[in-house]
Amino acid sequence: MTTNIQSRYLLRNRYVFKGKLKMQTGLHIGGGKVTLSSSDSPVVLTPDQKPFIPGSSFKGALRSTIEKLVPGLPGFSTCALMDLNETELNKEYQQGRKQSDICPTIRQWEVARRRRNRPQEAEKILNETLDELCNTCRLFGSPFAAAHVNINDLYMSEQELVDIIERRDGVAIDRDSEKARDRLKYDFEVVPASATFVMGIVLENASPKELQLLCAGLSEYVHGFGVIGGKRSRGLGVAQLEELTVDALELVSDGIDDATRRQRLQDYLVKRDVTRHYEKDEGEVFLMEQITKMFTSNEGAS
Ligand SMILES: [Zn+2]
Repeated sequence: MTTNIQSRYLLRNRYVFKGKLKMQTGLHIGGGKVTLSSSDSPVVLTPDQKPFIPGSSFKGALRSTIEKLVPGLPGFSTCALMDLNETELNKEYQQGRKQSDICPTIRQWEVARRRRNRPQEAEKILNETLDELCNTCRLFGSPFAAAHVNINDLYMSEQELVDIIERRDGVAIDRDSEKARDRLKYDFEVVPASATFVMGIVLENASPKELQLLCAGLSEYVHGFGVIGGKRSRGLGVAQLEELTVDALELVSDGIDDATRRQRLQDYLVKRDVTRHYEKDEGEVFLMEQITKMFTSNEGAS
């Protein structure tokens, strides 16, 4: 049996990014109810009342950060999830834009209509659609294809939780009226600046472009331009990524032959050896390498 390296189930590469997301400004906690929208309150409470950032919330914030960068990057595209209705789409076509240049995510109704009108070609249309996805939809997912990036929920360390709770109780002790007490309780529902959440991101079977885009987005957080949540105008949710480490396992790529691929996979499964490892404070070096590639080698498939 020969290995088919085209198989969509084959593990081609895996990149693991770990670090700490340190708040530069406070974060308000939204009423304890879970919300998945990054523009709503991005921090919620666990059942035992500990603040955390849902992975989906950080994913939305990271996606927005990257969408802002894409128009300035050579050979990259993003639909920014801005839906087009029929009138708007026709206008785009009249202005000379080709179907393949407009991400299917923002014209889902059109794809559905084409598949309905030509049921015998539904499979072919879907495959074309996958090829037409913009770079951010490929990385973060779309209704047509799963994301290549997976972000864990971000929790605070135990020690930090103890510190926060102590601070709250210390202030609350000598209050006498119920009203003041209520207000303090409310005030506590703000994650203080300097609060730190543990971040873990796994990128799997990524194309070079997807890896580069993710690195560009993370770089914004490393340099303090990342936000959590959409209330930046109120100064909330500025976050900085610190102590970034990167593990890169690369199994299928130009210049990797069968024997090397098998050896790498064996070393990974047996010893957890990766192809490249970047220690704390070296993670940034990996980001810069990938970002540089965006501007120097932008030929090839997406
Ligand atoms: Zn898109």
